Amino acid sequence: MKKKTSKYNGTQKFILFCFFTIALASLALTVFLLSKAFVVTRDAEEGTVPTTLTEVLPSAEDIKDKITAVVPKPEEAAPELSAEPEPAPEPEEAADPHVLKKQPDEWNLMLVNQWNPIDRNYEIDLIELNNGHSIDRRAYPDLQDMMDDARAEGLKPILCSSYRSNQKQRDLFANQVNKYLAAGLTEEEAELEAAKWVAIPGTSEHHTGLAVDIVALDYQLLDEGQQNTPEQQWLRENSYKYGYILRYPPDKSDLTGINFETWHYRYVGKEAAQEIHEKGICLEEYLAEYMN
Ligand SMILES: [Zn+2]
Repeated sequence: MKKKTSKYNGTQKFILFCFFTIALASLALTVFLLSKAFVVTRDAEEGTVPTTLTEVLPSAEDIKDKITAVVPKPEEAAPELSAEPEPAPEPEEAADPHVLKKQPDEWNLMLVNQWNPIDRNYEIDLIELNNGHSIDRRAYPDLQDMMDDARAEGLKPILCSSYRSNQKQRDLFANQVNKYLAAGLTEEEAELEAAKWVAIPGTSEHHTGLAVDIVALDYQLLDEGQQNTPEQQWLRENSYKYGYILRYPPDKSDLTGINFETWHYRYVGKEAAQEIHEKGICLEEYLAEYMN
């Protein structure tokens, strides 16, 4: 029997085998890669798979947001880090309604009381009267007219106090305090009580030269009886016509700071005096209206 022989020898068979194997592997790899590319493209069209590098990596903005979310912003960290924290604004003090923000421009309306002491540099042109008293020269003519008219009606008013220096006021105040000390009050109580009757130096209206104390010649005591004299009754009704007001009425002590003094008259000028008299108000009330 004739053995059928192959037309390829052993070496040629090996080379052919290798060729087909490599070709088959290449084909398989190609098919695989093509199929992967197809899937990626399809998904990209549906928008579910990022197609660019910038979509895969976080953007600079994203990173910044994440950092600032963790690290406090400078202004938030300031209270702890700042060496000198801003001082808190001080709460405004409630203004004392007794204290004038500003004195009126008119000399005759100047307010002096325990809350509004006289300006240390205030200069007065005084006129000395025959009886030794002194008052502001500008308030003198009307005072003289008032006294003359009262006397013309048979009354006998006399001045018992007028311009007073600061030193004179200090002496008066000390005398009053001593009276209360002698009566057994403590020093603090005595000063408080004295201030109701004698102005603390610097706060007396007599420093202005615009205030006068007037009493009846026949009754010169500075007490409650004084208000019943015909001289006081006439002054209460007529003084405003001459520009003078009853400065410390009985029902205004909380505003004036001084108890009722029927003898104390103050020059404010005829216009203001008339309004104050007609309205039954005190100088403090008049100025509160006038200055607003
Ligand atoms: Zn007085």
